[in-house]
Amino acid sequence: MSTLTITQASCADDYDPNSMPVDKARAFIHQFLAPIEGVVRVPIRSALGRVLAEDVLSPVDVPSHRNSAMDGWAMRGADLKAEGETTLQEIGVSFAGKPFAGKVGPNQCVRIMTGGVVPEGADTVVMQERAKASGKSIAFAPGQKTGQNVREAGEDLKAGSVALKAGRTVRPAELGLLASLGVGEVSVRRRLRVAFFSTGDELKSIGTPLGEGEIYDSNRYTIYGMLERLGCEVLDLGVVRDDPALLERAFAEAARVADVVITSGGVSVGEADFVKSMLARLGEVVFWKIAMKPGRPLAYGKIGGAHFFGLPGNPVSVMVTFYQFVRDALLVLMGAHPVTPVPTFTATCTARLKKAPGRTEFQRGVLTRGPNGALEVRPTGEQGSGILKSMSDANCFIILGDATGNVEPGTAVEVQLLEGIV
Ligand code: AMP
Ligand code: MG
Repeated sequence: MSTLTITQASCADDYDPNSMPVDKARAFIHQFLAPIEGVVRVPIRSALGRVLAEDVLSPVDVPSHRNSAMDGWAMRGADLKAEGETTLQEIGVSFAGKPFAGKVGPNQCVRIMTGGVVPEGADTVVMQERAKASGKSIAFAPGQKTGQNVREAGEDLKAGSVALKAGRTVRPAELGLLASLGVGEVSVRRRLRVAFFSTGDELKSIGTPLGEGEIYDSNRYTIYGMLERLGCEVLDLGVVRDDPALLERAFAEAARVADVVITSGGVSVGEADFVKSMLARLGEVVFWKIAMKPGRPLAYGKIGGAHFFGLPGNPVSVMVTFYQFVRDALLVLMGAHPVTPVPTFTATCTARLKKAPGRTEFQRGVLTRGPNGALEVRPTGEQGSGILKSMSDANCFIILGDATGNVEPGTAVEVQLLEGIV
């Protein structure tokens, strides 16, 4: 983390708040992020979606015993002939959870199932498809190798070694892995507290009728949803009118109770001025015009100990700026490590896209497989920054970089999926 203050960093020579490239804004914010303090011990089910605060060491060898990777027979590898069949006598069975108590001697074998303990004396398993049983005499095909199909104790993980590193977010696979080690509790970071409010005289909360020129506040709902999905503790501070005294009180209160403060609206030209002078009094905040669409105005800074993200007011801009700037920042604050950007890949665009060079656009798209099996993407229709349906109908962003101009049908474009599988 940089020791520079936000104000010092924003005085760098190549820093232009009126045309801030997306990557530069992201990198600027990341200089000031460090994981929050605070750890809690929780039963593993409650750790789902949370970030491990400490390395989890395996208390056991995995697998805990030498076992078979196949259904078949276990024997001494040295007994198997290189040429021609080998016939051995079956002296018992070893099923998963029901080991064979005896020892395998020369010219003997034990029927074994996947996961069954490989009995003492045996070092090799031949799969049943390579064997012919007649009573207790089992004939094995040639070409077997000593040691095959045997999983050694500790082969996947040795007792005492790191099973999961601090910083890992617990997903269903991690829950299963922890359970497989017999670990019932883990240390996770405390939840990140994020306070948010909407600003605007035109905003009404649902449940109240709309007067002329008024609209329902939708940003508080999308922000709530995005924060919940990330596993944050959310503090909804409602709608705050465009009144300097009320806003100042709301900012101060939010920064007092939360690790992060997110607002929507009020950072665009015209509105920003009184917000700017107020935030300069309360903390250190920079205001940018990002070279992107949607989501041009954006503010970032510190108010007291809290990180502040001032998102634009338009509903689609809120979501785009959240995913492109806030999401990764919150993950870093939550202690997640490493934080990797949501991957992008290319698909063929089937429609013509209007695009001006000099800014990054995040159009909302629908990614499908075309008739030849290749990935295709089309925009979700009207792309206005107030049209939430363009986001709701989408399963991906179509990311058009600064240098890109209009896109003709058949061109490869970069896409970023909105949903992952876990
Ligand atoms: P602003 O950035 O405050 O100038 O707002 C830009 C546009 O977004 C205006 O049309 C606002 O009415 C609209 N807007 C601002 N906040 C919200 C909100 N919370 N929910 C829905 N629309 C909003
Ligand atoms: Mg406003």
